[in-house]
Amino acid sequence: VEQKATRDNIIMEILKFVEKKSWVPRSKVIECRSIFELLVLTIISQITNWRNVRTVFNRLKQLGGISPEVIKEAELKAIEEALKPAGLYRVKAKRIKELAVIFHKQDLERKLREINDMVKAREVLLSLPGIGFKTADIILVFCLGFDILPIDTHIRRIAIRTGIANSKDSYDEIRLKLESHIPLGLRGWAHLALIEFGRRICGSRKPRCSSCPVKSICPSSKV
Ligand code: SF4
Repeated sequence: VEQKATRDNIIMEILKFVEKKSWVPRSKVIECRSIFELLVLTIISQITNWRNVRTVFNRLKQLGGISPEVIKEAELKAIEEALKPAGLYRVKAKRIKELAVIFHKQDLERKLREINDMVKAREVLLSLPGIGFKTADIILVFCLGFDILPIDTHIRRIAIRTGIANSKDSYDEIRLKLESHIPLGLRGWAHLALIEFGRRICGSRKPRCSSCPVKSICPSSKV
């Protein structure tokens, strides 16, 4: 019972710490002008840094805007050219064009916004080419307003180190275990806050346990 109480507090303690440090204000969100645009952004951002993402995003915009209608008509070569600074540009260009065709054909932007069942909306997103759990969940929480916690590599690491999840858990097992500690309405913010905590404190190589607010209760603490 004692241990459970400890684990119950650990994620909220981390979140309170991030908030106190003002690293991520509660109001912070990932901006979603359209589902299609945010999907394009996440595809561009795979294995590259944010400066490149911004550059490529602006280059892509110059084709006439980032909408399914524009991208589906654009030459694949032109999309590739715009994506070049981001790496893997051939694969990414093909994927973005495929998505544009599907979004246009199925009127998906509108359809997704009309689904009021999270599981159904998630299924639709996961059926899209190249869209995995994390990206689907980012769309669900930041574009569609569902209460879900997208799990990225930092968040997964924190869940495992704090003993909330174990390394054999699936994406959804980790997500559900973490979500059980985070109140509804806070999960979009918690996604951003935990990533920041992973970057600044619980880093993959050298966690800064001595500066960590849960060092006395974390099973992986080095201090
Ligand atoms: S004590 Fe160390 S391992 Fe545990 S959460 Fe804090 S930084 Fe990570």
